[in-house]
Amino acid sequence: MPSVLVVEDDPSIRQSLIEVLAEHGYAVRSAADGFGGLRELTQAPVDAVVLDLGLPDLDGGDALRMIRGISSVPVLVATARDDETEIIKLLNAGADDYLVKPFSGGQLIARLAAVLRRTSHVPPAGAGAAAAPAAASAAPQPATVGELVVDPGARTAFLAGRELRLTRREFDLLAFLARHAGQVVSKRRLLTEVWREPYVDDQTVDVHLSSLRRKLGERAAAPRYLRTVRGVGIKLVAPR
Ligand code: CA
Repeated sequence: MPSVLVVEDDPSIRQSLIEVLAEHGYAVRSAADGFGGLRELTQAPVDAVVLDLGLPDLDGGDALRMIRGISSVPVLVATARDDETEIIKLLNAGADDYLVKPFSGGQLIARLAAVLRRTSHVPPAGAGAAAAPAAASAAPQPATVGELVVDPGARTAFLAGRELRLTRREFDLLAFLARHAGQVVSKRRLLTEVWREPYVDDQTVDVHLSSLRRKLGERAAAPRYLRTVRGVGIKLVAPR
């Protein structure tokens, strides 16, 4: 049974989140503030965290960064602000997805299941044994593009022998592009196949591409591996 930690200070919202998650087969733990949530996380791991950003003791962004400091657990942030800049900032700070309040129980369950599908080997609650990740058994082979070696099995990426420190999403993005090296991939396709959801904005892809570019030691104005094909998409190529 996948476990979820709910960090929410409003007792009635907290209670309804706990109920809807428990109804859908999740083992739920909860905390009423940011430090309580961090304490829960250090005591025992969970498969996902639902983090309210309006907490009494910690700014939401700080709470997220502190969680990221101790754990790579998938985090769904719940924000009252439907502000794109803010949301992109949170995704960049390590949130896996977000919910804008007020959200329905159905939306929470769907987002959580999507996050669990793409970030872990734990099938979402209710998925059943038959839905266990078949893709995980066929471990993809490492891809080599120029001096770049991306190993999806080990989740490592090396450039000229130096290991790249990538976030989970940056790694997934790079691994997808490496698997399709030389092909132009549209942002829409990246959203479908890397993010696996239609809600995410194109701009999120841009943000991740630019941080990936930085880690590859290149600039959009002087690309080496990551080449933008204007109006079409992006391709990963061996530098000339
Ligand atoms: Ca709150």
